Amino acid sequence: MRVTTLGTGSPIPDPKRAGPSTLVQAGGQHLLFDCGRAVLMRLSALGITPPALAHVFLTHLHSDHITDFNDVVTTRWVMSPAPSPLTVTGPPGTAELARRTIAMLADDVCWRLAHHDDLTWEPSCDVTEVLDGIALDSEGIRVVAAPTDHRPVTPTVGFRVEHDGRAVVIGGDGVPCDSLDRLCSGADMYVQTVTRAEVVRSIPSPRLQDVIDYHSSCADAGRTAARAGVRTLVLTHPVPFAVPGTEHEWVAEAAAHFGGEVHLAADLDSFDL
Ligand SMILES: [Zn+2]
Ligand SMILES: [Zn+2]
Repeated sequence: MRVTTLGTGSPIPDPKRAGPSTLVQAGGQHLLFDCGRAVLMRLSALGITPPALAHVFLTHLHSDHITDFNDVVTTRWVMSPAPSPLTVTGPPGTAELARRTIAMLADDVCWRLAHHDDLTWEPSCDVTEVLDGIALDSEGIRVVAAPTDHRPVTPTVGFRVEHDGRAVVIGGDGVPCDSLDRLCSGADMYVQTVTRAEVVRSIPSPRLQDVIDYHSSCADAGRTAARAGVRTLVLTHPVPFAVPGTEHEWVAEAAAHFGGEVHLAADLDSFDL
Protein backbone atom coordinates (compact mmCIF):
# COMPACT_ATOMS: atom_id res chain seq x y z
CA MET A 1 0.00 0.00 0.00
CA ARG A 2 1.29 3.46 -0.91
CA VAL A 3 -0.04 6.74 0.49
CA THR A 4 0.66 9.99 -1.37
CA THR A 5 -0.28 13.38 -0.01
CA LEU A 6 -1.28 14.94 -3.32
CA GLY A 7 -2.32 18.29 -1.87
CA THR A 8 -1.42 19.45 1.62
CA GLY A 9 -2.84 22.97 1.68
CA SER A 10 -5.68 24.66 3.51
CA PRO A 11 -8.31 27.10 2.18
CA ILE A 12 -5.63 29.81 2.02
CA PRO A 13 -4.00 29.72 -1.45
CA ASP A 14 -0.36 28.62 -1.36
CA PRO A 15 1.79 28.24 -4.48
CA LYS A 16 3.51 25.18 -3.00
CA ARG A 17 0.48 23.44 -1.52
CA ALA A 18 -2.50 22.29 -3.55
CA GLY A 19 -5.83 21.79 -1.77
CA PRO A 20 -6.37 18.80 0.49
CA SER A 21 -6.34 15.43 -1.22
CA THR A 22 -4.63 12.12 -0.50
CA LEU A 23 -4.15 9.12 -2.76
CA VAL A 24 -4.07 5.57 -1.43
CA GLN A 25 -2.89 2.92 -3.87
CA ALA A 26 -3.62 -0.66 -2.88
CA GLY A 27 -4.18 -3.87 -4.79
CA GLY A 28 -3.64 -2.06 -8.09
CA GLN A 29 -6.43 0.44 -7.33
CA HIS A 30 -6.24 4.21 -6.95
CA LEU A 31 -8.42 5.53 -4.11
CA LEU A 32 -8.71 9.32 -3.87
CA PHE A 33 -9.59 11.01 -0.58
CA ASP A 34 -10.96 14.55 -1.01
CA CYS A 35 -10.73 16.70 -4.13
CA GLY A 36 -9.03 19.96 -3.13
CA ARG A 37 -7.67 22.68 -5.37
CA ALA A 38 -5.55 21.31 -8.27
CA VAL A 39 -6.06 17.66 -7.40
CA LEU A 40 -5.88 16.61 -11.05
CA MET A 41 -2.60 18.49 -11.56
CA ARG A 42 -1.07 16.60 -8.66
CA LEU A 43 -2.50 13.27 -9.90
CA SER A 44 -1.03 13.97 -13.34
CA ALA A 45 2.41 14.30 -11.70
CA LEU A 46 2.01 10.60 -10.83
CA GLY A 47 0.88 9.76 -14.36
CA ILE A 48 -2.66 9.00 -13.17
CA THR A 49 -5.58 10.15 -15.31
CA PRO A 50 -9.13 10.64 -13.96
CA PRO A 51 -10.56 7.55 -15.69
CA ALA A 52 -8.01 5.47 -13.74
CA LEU A 53 -9.50 6.46 -10.38
CA ALA A 54 -11.33 3.54 -8.79
CA HIS A 55 -13.11 5.43 -6.03
CA VAL A 56 -13.41 8.95 -4.67
CA PHE A 57 -14.02 9.37 -0.94
CA LEU A 58 -15.02 12.68 0.66
CA THR A 59 -14.36 13.27 4.36
CA HIS A 60 -16.73 16.26 4.40
CA LEU A 61 -18.19 18.87 2.13
CA HIS A 62 -16.22 21.94 3.25
CA SER A 63 -15.22 23.89 0.16
CA ASP A 64 -11.47 23.33 0.42
CA HIS A 65 -12.03 19.55 0.27
CA ILE A 66 -14.36 19.60 -2.75
CA THR A 67 -13.27 22.61 -4.85
CA ASP A 68 -12.12 20.38 -7.69
CA PHE A 69 -14.75 17.67 -7.37
CA ASN A 70 -16.37 19.12 -10.47
CA ASP A 71 -13.04 18.90 -12.30
CA VAL A 72 -12.76 15.21 -11.42
CA VAL A 73 -16.34 14.58 -12.62
CA THR A 74 -15.96 16.53 -15.88
CA THR A 75 -12.50 15.41 -16.84
CA ARG A 76 -13.21 11.76 -16.06
CA TRP A 77 -16.30 12.02 -18.27
CA VAL A 78 -14.59 13.65 -21.26
CA MET A 79 -11.53 11.38 -21.05
CA SER A 80 -13.41 8.08 -20.72
CA PRO A 81 -13.91 6.03 -23.90
CA ALA A 82 -17.13 4.49 -22.56
CA PRO A 83 -19.69 5.31 -19.86
CA SER A 84 -17.91 5.18 -16.52
CA PRO A 85 -19.85 6.58 -13.55
CA LEU A 86 -17.61 8.06 -10.86
CA THR A 87 -17.91 6.04 -7.67
CA VAL A 88 -18.16 8.47 -4.76
CA THR A 89 -18.44 7.71 -1.06
CA GLY A 90 -18.95 10.38 1.57
CA PRO A 91 -21.08 11.50 4.50
CA PRO A 92 -24.83 12.13 4.14
CA GLY A 93 -25.21 15.09 1.79
CA THR A 94 -22.76 13.67 -0.76
CA ALA A 95 -25.50 12.52 -3.16
CA GLU A 96 -26.98 16.02 -3.18
CA LEU A 97 -23.52 17.52 -3.76
CA ALA A 98 -23.02 15.21 -6.75
CA ARG A 99 -26.46 16.09 -8.11
CA ARG A 100 -25.84 19.81 -7.79
CA THR A 101 -22.35 19.51 -9.29
CA ILE A 102 -23.69 17.75 -12.37
CA ALA A 103 -26.50 20.33 -12.58
CA MET A 104 -23.91 23.12 -12.48
CA LEU A 105 -22.13 21.49 -15.42
CA ALA A 106 -25.30 21.34 -17.57
CA ASP A 107 -24.19 23.89 -20.17
CA ASP A 108 -20.77 22.30 -20.55
CA VAL A 109 -22.37 18.85 -20.90
CA CYS A 110 -24.68 20.14 -23.68
CA TRP A 111 -21.80 21.72 -25.61
CA ARG A 112 -19.56 18.65 -25.43
CA LEU A 113 -22.38 16.27 -26.39
CA ALA A 114 -23.16 18.53 -29.38
CA HIS A 115 -19.52 18.69 -30.44
CA HIS A 116 -18.34 15.07 -30.06
CA ASP A 117 -20.23 12.44 -32.07
CA ASP A 118 -18.67 9.59 -30.08
CA LEU A 119 -19.68 11.08 -26.73
CA THR A 120 -23.26 9.98 -26.26
CA TRP A 121 -23.66 9.79 -22.50
CA GLU A 122 -23.78 12.34 -19.70
CA PRO A 123 -21.48 12.39 -16.66
CA SER A 124 -22.79 10.51 -13.66
CA CYS A 125 -21.83 9.60 -10.12
CA ASP A 126 -22.57 6.39 -8.26
CA VAL A 127 -22.83 7.70 -4.70
CA THR A 128 -22.79 5.82 -1.41
CA GLU A 129 -23.37 7.79 1.78
CA VAL A 130 -21.72 6.50 4.96
CA LEU A 131 -21.40 7.63 8.53
CA ASP A 132 -20.20 4.65 10.52
CA GLY A 133 -19.22 1.23 9.20
CA ILE A 134 -17.94 -0.48 6.07
CA ALA A 135 -17.61 1.91 3.14
CA LEU A 136 -15.99 -0.56 0.73
CA ASP A 137 -15.11 -4.24 0.87
CA SER A 138 -13.86 -5.44 -2.48
CA GLU A 139 -10.86 -7.22 -3.99
CA GLY A 140 -8.99 -7.38 -0.69
CA ILE A 141 -9.48 -3.70 0.10
CA ARG A 142 -11.61 -2.73 3.06
CA VAL A 143 -12.50 0.88 3.83
CA VAL A 144 -14.17 1.66 7.14
CA ALA A 145 -15.80 5.00 7.92
CA ALA A 146 -16.38 6.59 11.32
CA PRO A 147 -17.85 9.94 12.34
CA THR A 148 -15.42 12.73 13.20
CA ASP A 149 -15.98 15.92 15.19
CA HIS A 150 -15.65 19.04 13.03
CA ARG A 151 -18.71 20.86 14.38
CA PRO A 152 -20.50 22.95 13.29
CA VAL A 153 -19.63 21.14 10.07
CA THR A 154 -21.68 17.97 10.20
CA PRO A 155 -21.81 15.16 9.28
CA THR A 156 -18.11 14.46 8.71
CA VAL A 157 -16.24 11.16 8.48
CA GLY A 158 -12.77 9.71 8.62
CA PHE A 159 -11.72 6.64 6.66
CA ARG A 160 -9.50 3.67 7.44
CA VAL A 161 -8.13 1.75 4.45
CA GLU A 162 -6.99 -1.81 5.07
CA HIS A 163 -5.15 -4.01 2.60
CA ASP A 164 -2.72 -6.90 2.91
CA GLY A 165 -2.44 -6.53 6.70
CA ARG A 166 -1.70 -2.79 6.55
CA ALA A 167 -3.93 0.12 7.53
CA VAL A 168 -3.92 3.88 6.97
CA VAL A 169 -6.40 6.36 8.45
CA ILE A 170 -7.40 9.55 6.67
CA GLY A 171 -8.70 11.59 9.59
CA GLY A 172 -9.86 14.66 7.65
CA ASP A 173 -10.61 17.86 9.58
CA GLY A 174 -11.72 17.80 13.20
CA VAL A 175 -10.81 17.58 16.86
CA PRO A 176 -10.04 14.34 18.72
CA CYS A 177 -13.00 12.09 19.52
CA ASP A 178 -13.68 8.50 20.52
CA SER A 179 -14.70 7.35 17.06
CA LEU A 180 -11.47 8.75 15.57
CA ASP A 181 -9.51 6.86 18.23
CA ARG A 182 -11.40 3.70 17.28
CA LEU A 183 -10.67 4.23 13.59
CA CYS A 184 -6.96 4.78 14.26
CA SER A 185 -6.49 1.87 16.65
CA GLY A 186 -3.34 -0.03 15.67
CA ALA A 187 -3.07 1.60 12.22
CA ASP A 188 0.29 1.77 10.48
CA MET A 189 -0.28 5.38 9.46
CA TYR A 190 -2.58 8.20 10.56
CA VAL A 191 -2.94 11.27 8.34
CA GLN A 192 -4.38 14.28 10.18
CA THR A 193 -5.10 17.87 9.18
CA VAL A 194 -3.67 20.18 11.84
CA THR A 195 -3.39 23.69 13.14
CA ARG A 196 -1.07 25.50 15.54
CA ALA A 197 -2.85 27.89 17.86
CA GLU A 198 0.21 30.06 18.40
CA VAL A 199 0.55 30.67 14.65
CA VAL A 200 -3.15 31.45 14.31
CA ARG A 201 -3.11 33.79 17.32
CA SER A 202 -0.20 35.74 15.81
CA ILE A 203 -2.46 36.83 12.95
CA PRO A 204 -4.93 39.57 13.94
CA SER A 205 -7.93 38.25 12.02
CA PRO A 206 -11.01 37.37 14.12
CA ARG A 207 -12.28 35.01 11.42
CA LEU A 208 -9.01 33.12 11.43
CA GLN A 209 -9.16 32.62 15.21
CA ASP A 210 -12.28 30.51 14.66
CA VAL A 211 -10.28 27.74 12.94
CA ILE A 212 -8.60 26.73 16.19
CA ASP A 213 -11.66 25.21 17.83
CA TYR A 214 -12.59 22.72 15.10
CA HIS A 215 -9.21 21.41 13.96
CA SER A 216 -6.78 19.16 15.78
CA SER A 217 -3.65 20.91 16.96
CA CYS A 218 -0.36 19.14 16.28
CA ALA A 219 -0.39 18.15 19.97
CA ASP A 220 -3.94 16.74 19.60
CA ALA A 221 -2.81 14.68 16.60
CA GLY A 222 0.19 13.42 18.56
CA ARG A 223 -2.01 12.42 21.50
CA THR A 224 -4.50 10.63 19.21
CA ALA A 225 -1.62 8.78 17.52
CA ALA A 226 -0.20 7.75 20.90
CA ARG A 227 -3.56 6.59 22.31
CA ALA A 228 -4.26 4.56 19.17
CA GLY A 229 -0.79 3.06 19.00
CA VAL A 230 -0.19 4.00 15.37
CA ARG A 231 3.25 3.63 13.84
CA THR A 232 3.54 6.83 11.81
CA LEU A 233 1.77 10.19 12.07
CA VAL A 234 1.53 12.38 8.98
CA LEU A 235 0.51 15.98 9.57
CA THR A 236 -1.10 17.70 6.61
CA HIS A 237 -3.28 20.73 5.70
CA PRO A 238 -1.40 23.02 8.15
CA VAL A 239 -3.83 25.78 9.11
CA PRO A 240 -3.41 28.61 8.36
CA PHE A 241 -0.03 27.77 6.69
CA ALA A 242 3.43 26.50 7.55
CA VAL A 243 5.98 29.21 6.91
CA PRO A 244 8.90 27.57 5.05
CA GLY A 245 11.64 26.82 7.56
CA THR A 246 9.20 26.22 10.44
CA GLU A 247 8.20 22.69 9.44
CA HIS A 248 10.24 21.22 12.31
CA GLU A 249 8.16 23.22 14.81
CA TRP A 250 4.94 21.52 13.62
CA VAL A 251 6.60 18.11 13.88
CA ALA A 252 8.08 18.87 17.32
CA GLU A 253 4.72 19.90 18.74
CA ALA A 254 3.26 16.50 17.78
CA ALA A 255 6.38 14.55 18.71
CA ALA A 256 6.18 15.90 22.27
CA HIS A 257 3.14 13.62 22.72
CA PHE A 258 3.94 10.68 20.42
CA GLY A 259 7.03 8.47 20.25
CA GLY A 260 6.55 7.20 16.68
CA GLU A 261 7.58 8.72 13.38
CA VAL A 262 6.10 12.16 12.61
CA HIS A 263 6.15 13.95 9.25
CA LEU A 264 4.74 17.26 8.09
CA ALA A 265 3.72 16.30 4.58
CA ALA A 266 4.53 18.26 1.45
CA ASP A 267 2.67 17.84 -1.82
CA LEU A 268 3.46 14.54 -3.54
CA ASP A 269 5.21 12.98 -0.54
CA SER A 270 4.78 9.20 -0.74
CA PHE A 271 4.86 6.66 2.06
CA ASP A 272 5.02 2.88 1.54
CA LEU A 273 3.34 0.77 4.20
ZN1 LIG B 1 -13.24 21.33 7.12
ZN1 LIG C 1 -10.07 21.65 5.47
